[in-house]
Amino acid sequence: MASELVGVGIVSGTSPSIAIGRAHRLAPSELETRQYSIERKDVMHEVARLNNAFSLVRAEIDELASHVSPDAPGEVRAFLDLHRMILDDPLLCDEPRDLVRTRLINAEWALTIQLEAVCKQFEAIDDEYFRSRSQDVRQVVERVMKALVSGRNATVSLPPKPADGERLILIARDLSPTDMLHLKERAEVDVAGFVTEMGGRNSHTAIMARSLGLPAVLGVPHAREAIAEGDLIVLDAETGRVHIRPEPDALAQFQQRLRAQIESRLALRKLKSKLARTKDGIAVELMANIELPSDVRDALDAGADGIGLFRTEFLFMNRDQLPDEDEQYEAYAKVARAMKGKPVIIRTLDIGADKVLTERARRGLGIAAGSPTVESNPALGLRAIRYCLAYPELFLTQLRAILRASAVGTVRILVPMLAHVHEVEQTLSFVARAREQLKERKQRFDARAPVGGMIEVPAAALSLPAFVKRLKFLSLGTNDLIQYTLAIDRADASVAHLYDHLHPAVLQLIARTIRIGNKARTPVAVCGEMAGEVDLTELLLGMGLRQFSMHPSQILSVKERLFTLSTKTAAKLAARVLRADDPLDIRIALERAMAKPAAK
Ligand code: PEP
Ligand code: MG
Repeated sequence: MASELVGVGIVSGTSPSIAIGRAHRLAPSELETRQYSIERKDVMHEVARLNNAFSLVRAEIDELASHVSPDAPGEVRAFLDLHRMILDDPLLCDEPRDLVRTRLINAEWALTIQLEAVCKQFEAIDDEYFRSRSQDVRQVVERVMKALVSGRNATVSLPPKPADGERLILIARDLSPTDMLHLKERAEVDVAGFVTEMGGRNSHTAIMARSLGLPAVLGVPHAREAIAEGDLIVLDAETGRVHIRPEPDALAQFQQRLRAQIESRLALRKLKSKLARTKDGIAVELMANIELPSDVRDALDAGADGIGLFRTEFLFMNRDQLPDEDEQYEAYAKVARAMKGKPVIIRTLDIGADKVLTERARRGLGIAAGSPTVESNPALGLRAIRYCLAYPELFLTQLRAILRASAVGTVRILVPMLAHVHEVEQTLSFVARAREQLKERKQRFDARAPVGGMIEVPAAALSLPAFVKRLKFLSLGTNDLIQYTLAIDRADASVAHLYDHLHPAVLQLIARTIRIGNKARTPVAVCGEMAGEVDLTELLLGMGLRQFSMHPSQILSVKERLFTLSTKTAAKLAARVLRADDPLDIRIALERAMAKPAAK
């Protein structure tokens, strides 16, 4: 009989949200293992078992890391690094050995006790993102536990090749990023998607699913009880529903929806090489936001007109030794070369708030040991340009690396979180100093590489004339502009309902920045999430925006929307919206505009 389960659906922008296939249940958790007391003479043996299990998992992760293709999404390597870091943490690898010795318990028991202790610490953290990292710790420990029980590493087991054309839907308690990589490597089995009992929207499993393009439904309680091996499953990641053994009529409808989704994705692909234009022939630049050099592959794949935002701080995070000038140069030059002359806008370090350096890296910068790692109000604290100006050597090193990369491509420098004109002036003199240093060293760079600024603090948006006089281009960081205009911490789930990109104050600041920039002939882009939202394309176009920068997976959808829009109709919509003082009226106006078949 047909039945249905519900969880959190995870869709990747570039793949269908429906998956149809046969269920394959992955082995139940090995965490439910035997726990027993041991005699003192067995301590060495249990400790050796622990050591062996940790070594096996380390070797397994290193082996996987050595096979990650240079083109793989940035998240893939980041997750392997994170799992390796968890594995090496003394709290996880040393403490259980002590527990075996002091409490005389077997290795599995010691590991389980320590896992619960570490997870409790995570779960007490206020920040939802960090709290959810306890899931990564569990995944790592589960691998160690499997190695402990079997004496082998813990590769996920898949059934023999399924029947012709049949795809698999994996059903698991949890799937770690490492498991997912193993699955991707098994070319002979075709995994269409997966369902897990654990995990949520922010889990690494979700992020990996998106970047690998696999639809998934996570956080489905009792999935392994309700689904039998070989059951026909339809997974709808849009609604978060898992349909078990659907009736023939329902199945036919899902198959039809899946075909339509595949066709529309293929049609979008055809737009890749077309220039982005409105219906009335106005050219618009669609650029990509990236976080690591390897993301450039997604940008090229989406036909991006350039990199509109390279968030360089991701090169600095999760490591104790900060990248030196040469390492940074290699990363920036790699992107500049790959984009073959198309613009690459490299943002200087935006560290601070929710993007932090490790304690050791901070000490390397000369920050006194014991200084608070968590400020009371980090989003308003030492962040982005404020951080760079406080650590001149850090800033100069990065500027030299970016300037050197300008010799091999079209590179522009973007400065985050400017609020004061004196910050612009100090930045420009740092850039001048970096140029001088390179000249002295006789190193090549493009002397005309322009310096632009992010408009993401209301103070900057309200003092634009002084900014456009000094900067060559502007980029609206709407994510922060909303946070700072509305006084809503963008990482705080308890006020997330107040974080409204359609608040009239936010829209006025965006429109004003575009208007003043256009008047002064200073190019203005939007690089916050708003740029990639198809239902805002007409509004931003109507405000006069001609440069959008977004996650690569959004580029083709925004391009498709642009082809249907006219700048005249868009300008009327923007004028109507900017006159409104109620976000609800704004929403209605935008919904009506979206519903219109095509512009005149
Ligand atoms: C923004 O604030 O809109 C932005 C693009 O920067 P980030 O999200 O990295 O702060
Ligand atoms: Mg920002």
